[in-house]
Amino acid sequence: MSKDSLSPSAITTGLGTRFVGQRVLYYPKLSSTMDIARKEARRGIAEGTVVIAEEQTVGRGRLKRTWLSPQGSIALSIILYPRISYLPYLVMLAALAAARSIEKVTGLKTQLKWPNDVLINGKKVCGILVETEVGENSAAYAIIGIGINVNFKVADFPEILDVATSLADELGRDIPRVKIIRQLLAEVEELCSALPDGEPIYQEWRKRLITLGRKVQVRTSTAILEGIAESVARDGSLLLRQADGSQTRIVAGDVTLR
Ligand code: ATP
Repeated sequence: MSKDSLSPSAITTGLGTRFVGQRVLYYPKLSSTMDIARKEARRGIAEGTVVIAEEQTVGRGRLKRTWLSPQGSIALSIILYPRISYLPYLVMLAALAAARSIEKVTGLKTQLKWPNDVLINGKKVCGILVETEVGENSAAYAIIGIGINVNFKVADFPEILDVATSLADELGRDIPRVKIIRQLLAEVEELCSALPDGEPIYQEWRKRLITLGRKVQVRTSTAILEGIAESVARDGSLLLRQADGSQTRIVAGDVTLR
């Protein structure tokens, strides 16, 4: 087996988690891990199950944008059944888990860009997507999608060249994806166990955000707003101070930062 194998056993053997990653559904090629994860979640598959693809053909970003995941990427979705009160923290949790695992395995330094990007030297190395379905009293399910650019050269993909980087580009060599995945799953579980009190997750996420204090342009579906990204609230929304002194609360789902 190649040293970069993503077989379920390479991921799960000796993985010290209680539930995250204990079951892995592996696909060589898939439209999107989110779609399979949603189907499995609706069927009630075990919490913590991971859907992973060697290659995604129709990876999704937010707002129906596409996420490129060529061979050499990590593209995975994690199925959770959290309480509704935990939902706002899931994007923060996923971003932190990705940032921590990249840093621990590679020694590279990451930054977070509100609301959902992990950057290295200002370029996007990881994207996060959280999709949830809410039931009457509890979340029916939540799916955390994480895409990480690992072993490919961004130069081979002109459409993301200006905005993206990969771990191999930063390190000058390939690294075993399975190391990042195993660390990522352990971090997700550790952060999940902190969820009943979301405060530490919110605080670490806020501390790592490079967006705060910066001048930003925010595109909503109806307008372009400019101002200083003043702070983030516990629900993950961004507070934008505009030139006229007014403050606007921006909900992540509706906007793109430029
Ligand atoms: P932005 O980062 O522009 O504010 P966003 O956070 O909403 O947008 P996502 O929805 O997370 O972006 O991701 C989709 C966007 O990311 C695409 O429009 C494209 O520009 C970029 N992209 C797509 N694939 C990759 C990749 N593998 N690595 C880095 N960036 C990518």
